[in-house]
Amino acid sequence: MSGTFIHTDSATGLPVGTEAVFLTLGSALVALFHHPESAATHGEHLAYKWVCLGCKTGDGPGSALRHTARDTANKHAATCRSIPWPNAA
Ligand SMILES: [Zn+2]
Repeated sequence: MSGTFIHTDSATGLPVGTEAVFLTLGSALVALFHHPESAATHGEHLAYKWVCLGCKTGDGPGSALRHTARDTANKHAATCRSIPWPNAA
């Protein structure tokens, strides 16, 4: 079991290593980020993941090439209608 924990930046709420952010139809963010644990396990070329901060969907334990993860994140953003949701305090 590895690769499912996502470290987030406390200031932005985005995953640490975020390199691009896409906007869903409902104005939630989808973050494309570099995941060091995946790089250590699968190699630097397969070190990218994404997560939707609206519906919390992502690529789970998997990781991918940067352009593959980017395309999937962007495709999700184009179809996801979730809205930003405040974090429970
Ligand atoms: Zn979503």
